[in-house]
Amino acid sequence: MPLLLLTNDDGVDAPGLRALARELERLGRVVIIAPERDNSAASHSLTMRRPLHVRELEPDIYAIDGTPADCVMIGLNKILPVRPDLVVSGINPGPNLGDDINYSGTVSAAREGTLLQIPSLAVSLGAANGEECLYAVAAGQAAELAGRVLEKGLAPDTLLNINVPNRPADQLQGVRYTRQGRRLYENAIQETFDPWGRRHYWIGGGTPRWSEQPETDVQAVLAGYVSVTPLHLDMTNHQALASLRNGRARGGEIG
Ligand SMILES: [Mg+2]
Repeated sequence: MPLLLLTNDDGVDAPGLRALARELERLGRVVIIAPERDNSAASHSLTMRRPLHVRELEPDIYAIDGTPADCVMIGLNKILPVRPDLVVSGINPGPNLGDDINYSGTVSAAREGTLLQIPSLAVSLGAANGEECLYAVAAGQAAELAGRVLEKGLAPDTLLNINVPNRPADQLQGVRYTRQGRRLYENAIQETFDPWGRRHYWIGGGTPRWSEQPETDVQAVLAGYVSVTPLHLDMTNHQALASLRNGRARGGEIG
């Protein structure tokens, strides 16, 4: 029976994680190893300046007082009896599209799984702030894709970033394989004042705007499609590398 490590960045009690666990259990044994608390936008950070504590909450459900990447690293090396067949991260209540992938704890947990050479998926729901999350629909879609990955595997050093529109199942248009898009931020830093009149800044909120380029994750989700983007660990710009090596970058743009 396949062994699946399930984690997230919203914390072990998050409803998206539990909904996904219920669907993944049809594929194999699911062991949840997730952060104790919300770690959204923790990216790929590891906790290195204090020890980490693992608590077994129930059989096959563990909480760690660390980041999503900590959970995958410790889960894989110290908690699971054998290497898992799949690492799944999610379901995040908001989308992880375009440039947001860089900040996402959800995506980074899957990236950590990939670094440890386990096929890995990140799953996010395209819900707007305050919108009711249709987790069961996204969990069903994710489990179907997870089943396919278990069967066929993934290309080396590649993870899947899955974003499901927040719609009833009969309103989903299908699955689109996409490339990473761009997010345009507006008013993403809020200015606030504390009770003593001191100015502070709070990152978050604002009006998200998306660059709607064709074939991107952004465009697919906006059009009602489940977006599946294969992400590679190698961030090298190979075209720029070739150009640097050929000396063609002199006097012009590198790349
Ligand atoms: Mg989150």
